[in-house]
Amino acid sequence: MSETNPKLRAELAGIPTYKPGKPAAAGGPVAYKLSSNENPYPPLPGVMEQAVAAAGTFNRYPDMACTGLMNELSDRFAVPVTHLATGTGSVGVAQQLLQATSGPGDEVIYAWRSFEAYPIITQISGATSVKVPLTDGEVHDLDAMADAITDRTRLIFVCNPNNPTGTVVRRAELERFLDRVPSDVLVVLDEAYREFIRDAEVPDGVEIYRDRPNVAVLRTFSKAYGLAGLRVGFAIAHEPVAAALRKTAVPFGVSQLAQDAAVASLRAEDELLGRVGTLVSERTRVVNALREQGWTVPETQANFVWLRLGDRTMDFAAACEAAGVVVRPFAGEGMRATIGETEANDIFLHAAQQFRKEL
Ligand SMILES: *Cc1c(COP(=O)(O)O)cnc(C)c1O
Repeated sequence: MSETNPKLRAELAGIPTYKPGKPAAAGGPVAYKLSSNENPYPPLPGVMEQAVAAAGTFNRYPDMACTGLMNELSDRFAVPVTHLATGTGSVGVAQQLLQATSGPGDEVIYAWRSFEAYPIITQISGATSVKVPLTDGEVHDLDAMADAITDRTRLIFVCNPNNPTGTVVRRAELERFLDRVPSDVLVVLDEAYREFIRDAEVPDGVEIYRDRPNVAVLRTFSKAYGLAGLRVGFAIAHEPVAAALRKTAVPFGVSQLAQDAAVASLRAEDELLGRVGTLVSERTRVVNALREQGWTVPETQANFVWLRLGDRTMDFAAACEAAGVVVRPFAGEGMRATIGETEANDIFLHAAQQFRKEL
């Protein structure tokens, strides 16, 4: 036996591990998972049929170029196929963006707290994270983010709406920010929750990107479209960014099942967005009820709510779990609860009310 281990890249030391949302406990009376911002509805029958049909060919490699999906996306968003790139979820595409732009000595700016994948994929790339605190209102501080740009900055994430706070940046402030970003720095608009937005002042990244070659938009089929388990997301970006993404893609990363289910989902968009509408109504109900209970709830445009609980975060999460819903706590900071089925939301609201009474 050799005494030394294989040499690993120094950048890997100390990478925070991605914490998946805790699964709903098995065996309890009821257990709803409100910890991963998933869509609570099961797959639509038509989408399921396409996926099952594709499963019949899984002895074959998938279409590496995702031709059918790329054509469908090109039509849906009115963008050329050359401006599209698919990947294993939008996290996969985000990692490719880092591979394509950033390495040791480079800086990546993002708000904090924001999506917990950002520090992980940044550190893997070897680049340095520059975390800019959210404002007191839990919103991206775009002025401070622009001030943080240096000669080393390669990429900036803007998560809109922000995970885990649900807050948004609006058109005028985003445009003003983008005007301050040098044209050789890539701005990634992560719009994983785009379909849940009801605030007309929140811009559609796909409109923003058209006049701005240094903007890339990330979208996913994991949330509103309900395909989290199939791992498919995409970017819309100008050349040469989109081309770089196609170069850095893991060959055959997106399965045929995922490709065909994504196409079927786009074709069933009306029905899927109807379900999103129901979740948005539930969001309004949950936020109003929490405020009536006395909580401070930031305005959310996503399928989740954020409560800043500080030291009481873990106790609150435990109380929710005991009541039958699993939420996503960030120790010492706060918790995020996904808007789920009505029953699940009711249990969550009841647990929040009880917790408040006992404060
Ligand atoms: C869920 C989420 C994603 C999408 O993840 P997938 O890899 O597409 O499943 C991307 N960004 C944010 C901010 C998210 O919350």
